[in-house]
Amino acid sequence: MTNDLSEKLYKDLAELCEEIESTTKRLVIVDLIAQFLSKVASEEIAPSVRMIVGKTFPEWSPKTLDISWRTIQKILKDITRASDEEMLQAFSEKGDLGDMARLLMLRKDLSKQTMLLPKPLTILEVYNSYQNISEIKGGGSKKKKENILLSLLSRANPLETKYIIKNLIGEMRHGASLGLMEEAIAKATEVPLEIIKRAHMLIGDLGEVVEKAFLKGPQNLKDVKPIPFHPIRPMLAQSVENVGEALKVHGGETSLEYKMDGARVQIHIHSGEVRIFSRRLTEVTTSLPDIVQQVGNNIRCKEAIIEGEVIAVSNDARPLSFQNLMKRFRRIKRIEEIINEIPVKLYLFDIIYLDGKLLIDQPYHERRGILSEVSGEIELVPQLVTSDLERAQKFFKDSRKKGHEGLMAKKVESKYTPGRRGKKWLKIKETESLDLVIVGADWGYGRRVKWLSDYYLAARNEQSGELQIIGKTFKGFTDEEFEDTTQRLKQLKTREEGRTVRAKPEIVVETVFDEIQKSPKYKAGYALRFARIKRIRDDKDVEEIDSIEKVKQLYEKQFKTKAKSI
Ligand code: AMP
Repeated sequence: MTNDLSEKLYKDLAELCEEIESTTKRLVIVDLIAQFLSKVASEEIAPSVRMIVGKTFPEWSPKTLDISWRTIQKILKDITRASDEEMLQAFSEKGDLGDMARLLMLRKDLSKQTMLLPKPLTILEVYNSYQNISEIKGGGSKKKKENILLSLLSRANPLETKYIIKNLIGEMRHGASLGLMEEAIAKATEVPLEIIKRAHMLIGDLGEVVEKAFLKGPQNLKDVKPIPFHPIRPMLAQSVENVGEALKVHGGETSLEYKMDGARVQIHIHSGEVRIFSRRLTEVTTSLPDIVQQVGNNIRCKEAIIEGEVIAVSNDARPLSFQNLMKRFRRIKRIEEIINEIPVKLYLFDIIYLDGKLLIDQPYHERRGILSEVSGEIELVPQLVTSDLERAQKFFKDSRKKGHEGLMAKKVESKYTPGRRGKKWLKIKETESLDLVIVGADWGYGRRVKWLSDYYLAARNEQSGELQIIGKTFKGFTDEEFEDTTQRLKQLKTREEGRTVRAKPEIVVETVFDEIQKSPKYKAGYALRFARIKRIRDDKDVEEIDSIEKVKQLYEKQFKTKAKSI
């Protein structure tokens, strides 16, 4: 990091991204980024880190650019004067929206050689434009955003355009993941990687981590504490087939809890204020005023971060399906009406922070003990610590009988590892399902003719990073969900051919099926037979969908299960 006051050009950042894209070598990428970071000025460092990884805002931040692909298309058309056909052709040639934009700009430039060169963009100008866009709200906001974008892109060269577009759609695809960025920051600042990782988990923003690392060094980063109302990435679970496997993986004994079919909540309490965040770190406080009140009345401490599951319940307190709960978050009606219509119940299961003390390194059973001391009358998720298979199986059946999804098994001695999906937490469900993403849809027939209602579902090929289709279905949605999804897909549309709309992959759906078959029809080589969408997983990010590797494992498992039953 230099103290040079001359602002660094955005061109340098775009060129760095292009260099990163051209290699698959981890160490080369880390080196390139580390060198870059040691050359930028202090106020440019956090913006650079965020823009390189494609986050544009701190990861915990609710800010979004909220610009549809349609708006971007319109501006690109204005600037490059490309026709729909030329756009489509450029997209087919490149298969990437950023590259498509670059190509259109290059073609435009050829015909306008005489144009005066605009003033070059700086890193801070681009970053500040994103901040300005995110702050525009209310009437006329679409037009105002378009104007900022237009003035930005009209000064951008083709390569800069490519990376601005990638930032706008939030997909860099150049291979510099958050993990690689952590390594690059460690290298540039000479702070040990473990300290960078831990600070990242707790602060939830690599921009702030890199600033702290450069300015204050390792000691300050070591003692970093969560910041009130900045949500922390939740610890996640891997699937296992049954309770027997969970006991084995956890070395004989495990702590079982009901797995409830609701929404994960992270509740922050600070100076008498209660705010609630979803698993995707968005704030949901205003959708759950009754829970806010209950927490405020019960939790006995000044400051805390606690976690639990909120489920929708019937009047006799039986769990209702996830779809019911979603009405709370979609907010079609006024919240005062929905509170009575859809009662919800909070069950707590973890505590991360209490009155100045970070608890993530304490074993799970101790955290649960602390939680039960501060939770007042709020119930904890029912738990059974056991090494006995029969008792464990009975607990699973009890959970199902009471209307829950299955069980979670948590290793008794385990630490809380934010953002990690490890074997310390295992989930056990009745039926196998896959989390897939909708990459396109066909217009329906008959009753469904007005909806984009036949969905192409894809899993991620982890080797190539590609999203590969493994099935198509129109089953599982209510009319309301068809309507909603149609509107969302129209916003996410990247192109339309005949009855098929291709869409930016954003809507994650939990999908059940009868069987997985080998199939030459899809590039992945597998197809789901009788796929049915169980529910939309707005609480999941496209990065969290299942992999083709998992599809393959499930395919192979079927044979074992069949062989056993013959
Ligand atoms: P999945 O969404 O299928 O990956 O399963 C993990 C999710 O299960 C968590 O994010 C929680 O929303 C939910 N869950 C339900 N009950 C529990 C529990 N007792 N402990 C932890 N997570 C739970």
